[in-house]
Amino acid sequence: MSRAFTPTLKEVPADAQVVSHVFMIRGGFIRRVAAGVYNFLPLGWRVINKIERIIREELDKAGAQEVLMPAAVPAELWQETGRWQKYGPELLRFKDRKGADFCFGPTHEEVIVDMVRREVKSYRDLPLNLYQIQGKFRDELRPRAGLMRGREFIMKDAYSFDVDLESARKSYQAMYDAYGHIFSRCGLSFRVVEADTGAIGGDMSHEFQVLASSGEDTLVACDGCDYAANVEQAEMAAPAADEAPADGPALESVATPGKKTIDEVADFLEVPASRLVKTLIYVAGGKAIAVCVRGDRTVNEVRLKKVVGADELFAAGDKQVTEATGAPVGFAGPVGLEIPVYADVELQGLRGAYCGGNAADVHLGNLDMARDVPSATFDTLRAAGAGDRCARCDDGAFMVERGIEVGHVFLLERVYTEPMKATVLGEDGKQAVMEMGCYGIGVTRVAAAAIEQNHDEGGILWPLSIAPYEVHLLALQPKDQGVMDACERLYKELGDAGLEVLFDDRKERPGAKFADADLIGIPLRIAVGKRTLGEGEVEFKWRADAEASRVPVEDIVGKVAELARTEKERLRRLGA
Ligand code: ATP
Ligand code: MG
Repeated sequence: MSRAFTPTLKEVPADAQVVSHVFMIRGGFIRRVAAGVYNFLPLGWRVINKIERIIREELDKAGAQEVLMPAAVPAELWQETGRWQKYGPELLRFKDRKGADFCFGPTHEEVIVDMVRREVKSYRDLPLNLYQIQGKFRDELRPRAGLMRGREFIMKDAYSFDVDLESARKSYQAMYDAYGHIFSRCGLSFRVVEADTGAIGGDMSHEFQVLASSGEDTLVACDGCDYAANVEQAEMAAPAADEAPADGPALESVATPGKKTIDEVADFLEVPASRLVKTLIYVAGGKAIAVCVRGDRTVNEVRLKKVVGADELFAAGDKQVTEATGAPVGFAGPVGLEIPVYADVELQGLRGAYCGGNAADVHLGNLDMARDVPSATFDTLRAAGAGDRCARCDDGAFMVERGIEVGHVFLLERVYTEPMKATVLGEDGKQAVMEMGCYGIGVTRVAAAAIEQNHDEGGILWPLSIAPYEVHLLALQPKDQGVMDACERLYKELGDAGLEVLFDDRKERPGAKFADADLIGIPLRIAVGKRTLGEGEVEFKWRADAEASRVPVEDIVGKVAELARTEKERLRRLGA
């Protein structure tokens, strides 16, 4: 390490908000070049290389072939699918010296479809699955979490081509399985969730989510079956009907001076938030609409868009809210509105509820949505939450978890091949549009997710399969010739045993070396100190263990080699 380029830092970088970002900067893995753009230093690059190696092994095994496409992509290809216009400011566009438009590829469907349609002419050439590992650029709005959400980041993107849907589903399944092997071998604990096929269209989509409290995505998992899904996508069973009778008392006005938020109103009226109806004003396709969910729920905007049939939808500003309701913000309610009202199904059976009165300082009580807002459109508009009943099994309920999306598989069908006229001659002699799948892994995000899931206060706890080195050898008194001689000998023997060793021979105090070893997070640590060495021993510990144990010098290489072998074997089996 005295000659290695591994600059560690004691202080926490000011712009780092997530653990992986802090430790990767402090541990000398990466350095910031611009917002969301990083240099990979030797330790960081070794981690990325290990992840890539696992990906290549598993994809090659699954029958995919590696290619490399350009990062600079001519606009014409993107114009063929209409994405040149549709893709927003995340697309980095630029011109060459002749004034021709280009983009820095954020994903490569167009380029690969062009490549394949030029060469592949017959069903006999299919199925075909091609992948690349490449730097992508997306001009993300908030690149604030280090490698978790960069602007330039490394992605593995794969694309499958099949002659029909049945065969495309098999290609999809093969990638789905390979992804499971890859993330298991990387030592990650993950869940596969059903995802929204969203604006792109297509048939089937799954996200691979690494479970971590810092994850940006919220997902629900059933406690009764295997079902897990995005909160936007989760299918819930119908809510239980309210026990209150249908012919309750009529609506009444309730004075709620200055009480605007759900919490304020619930406190003031001394009822739970689940007795309130939350009314939000949105602008959908240019027109104002009102959306109602129970006070303790959030609106599922992905669902809402679909139900309303709008391409664009956003929350109305204060002025628009007042225009639509005739009241200051905080008092919107569904009764008597002149704009369309959409309500979550849960409200259909809710009786004796409270809602805003569309006038300052007024709410309404005894609300029965079905009775009092007969024009409302009822549909599932709430995001799934803890306790919602699962639609896939009899009595399961949802738990809420946070996740980091490390991979995404998507059965695209003909979304790209149709507009780009990518056809092959079918077995029946007719031209057939190819069925396509696309499959992404955020390679650099995998490194960040591994840290989010495996760390303690002192630093990283790398899974052995993706650690920058397997063994960290510390010379505690580097000025002592005996210590250095023993270390040099161990370094050589460990290397001969096939282990990757980082040797800390720096002229630093033992405390600083232990702290850096914890920070960098190499799984197996051997410390060679003058006193223990005098008794013929060294100190050994796993990074994750609290206490070191003493091992005779002559046994340590065999012991560490055996531990590494067993652990690697375990991770491999997990992935098999
Ligand atoms: P997100 O919702 O996190 O923005 P996405 O849906 O845009 O992801 P895809 O287009 O499916 O992502 O890209 C494939 C994979 O690339 C993702 O599963 C993720 O792991 C990774 N990825 C996407 N955007 C970034 C980014 N800004 N930084 C790092 N990795 C990313
Ligand atoms: Mg994105």
